[in-house]
Amino acid sequence: MIVVLKHNVSQARKEQLIAWLENLGLRIHVSDGEYQTVLGLIGDTSRVDMDLVASLEIVDSVKRVSEPFKCCNRKFHPDDMVVEIGSVKVGGGHFAMIAGPCSVESEEQIVTVAKAVKASGANLLRGGAFKPRTSPYDFAGLKATGLELLKIARQETGLPIVTELMNIMDIDLFEDVDVIQVGARNMQNFDLLRELGKLDKPVLLKRGLANTLKELLMSAEYIMASGNERVMLCERGIRTFSDYTRNTLDLSAVPMLHELTHLPVIVDPSHATGIAKLVPPMALAGAAAGADGLIIEVHNDPMHALCDGAQSLRPEDFDALAKKVFAVREICRA
Ligand code: PEP
Ligand code: MN
Repeated sequence: MIVVLKHNVSQARKEQLIAWLENLGLRIHVSDGEYQTVLGLIGDTSRVDMDLVASLEIVDSVKRVSEPFKCCNRKFHPDDMVVEIGSVKVGGGHFAMIAGPCSVESEEQIVTVAKAVKASGANLLRGGAFKPRTSPYDFAGLKATGLELLKIARQETGLPIVTELMNIMDIDLFEDVDVIQVGARNMQNFDLLRELGKLDKPVLLKRGLANTLKELLMSAEYIMASGNERVMLCERGIRTFSDYTRNTLDLSAVPMLHELTHLPVIVDPSHATGIAKLVPPMALAGAAAGADGLIIEVHNDPMHALCDGAQSLRPEDFDALAKKVFAVREICRA
């Protein structure tokens, strides 16, 4: 249920109403916009007398929210969420250009790539230290050492780091990580999501291989309902009957999610296509569709990458792409 307050309601009267609603056993999410204040009521609202609330002098309107997701619902929070990662902002007109290798392989590799992508305009560095691999025989990441190498690359470039946490047992190792990524395969690991909800750290939540947008939003809800509001969603392609690409990039998810939620939406054209030459056109399409950011795999030597070389751009290709992405954003802003 949402309660929209009238313009210019005093703080005291607002607090009085909130205290009364909280007494009914509800959690209240307050969204103070430029023109109106919206109270989002979370919990069992069946005991709330809608007509009584609507009749209050300070209340403009009351609506039931039928969607099962509340904390991440745009109706609760009409303004775009801006996620702050140090000095980097994402959402509400601020763009995340996340780039880096699929996995961290060595200090030389991650520092070289970090410097290159930064020079091309990336503002966040990606790199997997804990890698979910389909085959148990494949390289699964450098783990704790990989996280240390990411920190060295951050120190060298100033880029905040984005890296995947697969298992809650490793969470202490991630204390000094800037953004925790939840990979597609873990989108519905509800215990993991609940634990991430207890942190004061942004989370990049990737859409599962065969999950609906509603399921993606319900997973964001797990994190937010546990107390962590700083969630960014990522469309990374879904399983369809496409035969020549790794996945199918569901670009309509971008404007649809923007309608449903105030959370930033990032597009991953690398895992969506699996093919380096398809990454630039789909990245540009993602930017044109209104994505709040892109996450792109870049490797200094794709031929010898330990993971996802076929979809990795060389630094010079990323540089050319980044220029076009920024140009597309300018055109779309006009
Ligand atoms: C990744 O970003 O490294 C990754 C494994 O992606 P996804 O979870 O989307 O497959
Ligand atoms: Mn990858």
